[in-house]
Amino acid sequence: MYTCDLDRMADKIKTMSKFGDAGHGGITRYSLSPEALQARGEFVKRMEAIGAEIKTDDMANVYATLKGSEPDLPNIVMASHCDSVKNGGNYDGILGVMGAMEVLESIADQKIPHKHNVTAMIWTNEEGSLYPPAMMSSGVICNDYLPDDIKKNFIHENMLASKSVLDPEKTFGEALEASGYKGARENRLNNKDYMAMFELHIEQGPILEAAKKDIGVVTCVLGMINYKIKVYGQSDHAGTTPMKYRQDALYGASKVLQYLHDELDKLDPELVYTTGEIYCHPNVHTVIPDYVEFSIDARHEKPEVIEQVVNVIKSMPKEVVKCKVDYEVAWTRDTVYYDKELVNYVQEAVDELGYSNQKINSGAGHDAQFAAYMMPTTMVFVPSKDGHSHCEPEYTSPEQCTQGASVLLNAVLKCDADK
Ligand SMILES: [Zn+2]
Repeated sequence: MYTCDLDRMADKIKTMSKFGDAGHGGITRYSLSPEALQARGEFVKRMEAIGAEIKTDDMANVYATLKGSEPDLPNIVMASHCDSVKNGGNYDGILGVMGAMEVLESIADQKIPHKHNVTAMIWTNEEGSLYPPAMMSSGVICNDYLPDDIKKNFIHENMLASKSVLDPEKTFGEALEASGYKGARENRLNNKDYMAMFELHIEQGPILEAAKKDIGVVTCVLGMINYKIKVYGQSDHAGTTPMKYRQDALYGASKVLQYLHDELDKLDPELVYTTGEIYCHPNVHTVIPDYVEFSIDARHEKPEVIEQVVNVIKSMPKEVVKCKVDYEVAWTRDTVYYDKELVNYVQEAVDELGYSNQKINSGAGHDAQFAAYMMPTTMVFVPSKDGHSHCEPEYTSPEQCTQGASVLLNAVLKCDADK
């Protein structure tokens, strides 16, 4: 078994954490921002130093490839993202990039033989924090393979026109042109020149740490539904309307929310559900709200359980406190299972390295889930301290990061030897 280098990994973590350093332990590194371009520059510099060939595609995804002994065989790719949310941590996404770099550096440094070309890749704009939506370039690149209701959200031209949330005068397309990383469309990841994709990522939850496991062998991305719940009332003056005459949509919405949580609590204990978004009209303290809309996002591996959630939503009272209640599907996604063979390579690699591990699913979305529609794909998780992610306390130790990279390295080599 081969292992990656702890000092080299720690150095990468330290260096990458400077790009977008927000001054209190985390980073703000929006896609294609000057900070993100610094991170890309570091990636290119280190990859060129080991003799990797650099390419970019028309979505500014970056590919660094080490040639194999049979370079006409399709490539094996390892990919993740280097952008972050506002005040995010030093590991989400960038760990998968650093892990991929570490694999190529280990191959070069230890002169590890391999037949296939091996590629480390940066996906552009995974978070969608500045230019929505999230997973933008994997949505574009894998578009032909995505289910219809997902693919329509990632039409290339619409993505180029996506407006900056900070400055609506600026579009993603302009940032792409200005980045210096826009390349040829023919360089896009595809399932002819590439045969498998691996993504190393932090878990972003508390399960591995609580179970005292080093590695999560990821099997799927959870299926989910996202519904909009709508409550219709009547606006009136907050000072002159006696309570018994009111149709208060926000009060009604609070009753519906309570009902949904009480009923969903009775379903499978592994079900997770969230109301994270609420819209109240007119949102003025002197006016009784006449319209409230809130989201309900529910995730579970099994479609039967998701079906039960839908039944709960359908069973909501049609009227509460004299307000009409309605719902609409925003979007849904079936559970995406990762490729069995690739999952096995990861499992064998972890077992042979002697790291404690368990199977785990991903509740979060990743570029790998879109890639999985196009080609055999899988993921490797390492623990997140206290389960924190998308925030500055996000932490995974250099030792754990290096273990993740070693798993990635050996899984890639197993794939290389088998095909
Ligand atoms: Zn991520």
